[in-house]
Amino acid sequence: MVTRPHEAHPDEFNPWLHVTSLIEKAGELLGLDEGMIRRIVTPERILEVAVPVRMDSGEIDMFTGWRIQHNTSRGPGKGGIRFHPSVNVDEIAALSADMSIKCAVVNIPYGGAKGGVKVDPSNLSHAELERLTRRYAFAISPMIGPDRDIPAPDINTDPQVMSWIMDTVSMLAGHNMPGVVTGKPLAIGGSLGHAGSTSLGVTICTIALLKQLNRSPQGERVVIQGYGKVGAPLIKLLSERGMMIVGLADIHGAIHVPDGIDHEKMALHFSEAKSIMGYPGSEEIHADELFTLPSDIAIPAALGGVITDKVAETMAASLMVEAANGPTTGEGAAVLTSRNIPVVPDVLANAGGVVASYFEWAQDLQGFMWEGELFRQRLEKTMHDAFDYIWERHDQLNVPLRDTALVVGVERIAEATELRGLFP
Ligand code: NAD
Repeated sequence: MVTRPHEAHPDEFNPWLHVTSLIEKAGELLGLDEGMIRRIVTPERILEVAVPVRMDSGEIDMFTGWRIQHNTSRGPGKGGIRFHPSVNVDEIAALSADMSIKCAVVNIPYGGAKGGVKVDPSNLSHAELERLTRRYAFAISPMIGPDRDIPAPDINTDPQVMSWIMDTVSMLAGHNMPGVVTGKPLAIGGSLGHAGSTSLGVTICTIALLKQLNRSPQGERVVIQGYGKVGAPLIKLLSERGMMIVGLADIHGAIHVPDGIDHEKMALHFSEAKSIMGYPGSEEIHADELFTLPSDIAIPAALGGVITDKVAETMAASLMVEAANGPTTGEGAAVLTSRNIPVVPDVLANAGGVVASYFEWAQDLQGFMWEGELFRQRLEKTMHDAFDYIWERHDQLNVPLRDTALVVGVERIAEATELRGLFP
């Protein structure tokens, strides 16, 4: 199929080809005709923009950015913006397709989109970062808007970056437009409950899976890779529900704590050491040993592609919940399936963040701020409903949860596409 945005070297792993092959497989399993599969696979809009920035030195530097809307049959595009030196069109296209699937899996009225700028923001001053963000926001402004496409934070972008995007688009429109981005600070239309929402979704999926396996959370031993925006709140949420975090890794290394990590002590230690390493009473281990530690539940919450076939073969846990995006390679997934290790896939497990974004956007459109408790209740219900539906379909289809989620996502996108027909 001619759906590939960019010709990469045939030997390289290509995230776009990977995701399109998965969507095609799900479409075939559903018996969709080839024309429909091609419509679902192909991104609707790919915008590449030049981003000139006047640096503090007075010189002008050029950067390249993209915004891609993969599929908007079910609603406006939704997806983050990342600033990273490795960003390219294939990566952004693949991530936009993941967002189409993710929004459909948790059944929120969004399509999928993603954006990014090829830049290393650690080399930019605060003022340069603001100028880059505003120029990029201006360049993609014809494509974004509360009823078109709503960006959010992703790698190296945060509430401050969202504030600049919101302000730039509002200045262009001549009026306030808080609903153009989510993940904003509270003071300018952000939402109570947004912080930690991804980790809450991961927790709900973990407990729901344990329940289906007739296991209690009490005393379950967990290993987590990553102590960032997702990993850190996760330790608190899982510990509060009786689980023990016996292994943890961050970019600096990995530790083993057989009696379990105390989340408050870890937060205190991390605030001083800026790393998990050296946590009192912990044993330092090699990073490769994390998933081999005696444990019951594995949660990758850092990087993509870390659960390879080799890691999957020696994984000690008997179930895995994917908090990170794309943590498992195709080969790794095959090994986990052959070992009968159930995996809650990323498109379901880490969807709490996009559900929270949906709630923030809904509040911005209503001009009415919800109470934190209402936000939490609705988030929990959306995640429970999504998990229960995927589990039910997984029982019927008799395929792994990952394949089931893809089938459900593609099915819902196909239904919307079919109902809307083909314009003109
Ligand atoms: P973050 O940047 O806040 O934290 C990343 C963590 O990973 C840090 O603790 C870092 O030290 C660790 N890390 C980096 N390299 C590592 C390595 N080589 N080995 C072990 N640990 C390493 O990022 P985050 O927002 O917590 O996101 C983590 C994952 O979750 C990503 O895959 C992201 O795409 C996904 N995700 C995040 C959200 C969200 O709401 N933040 C939502 C959905 C998915």
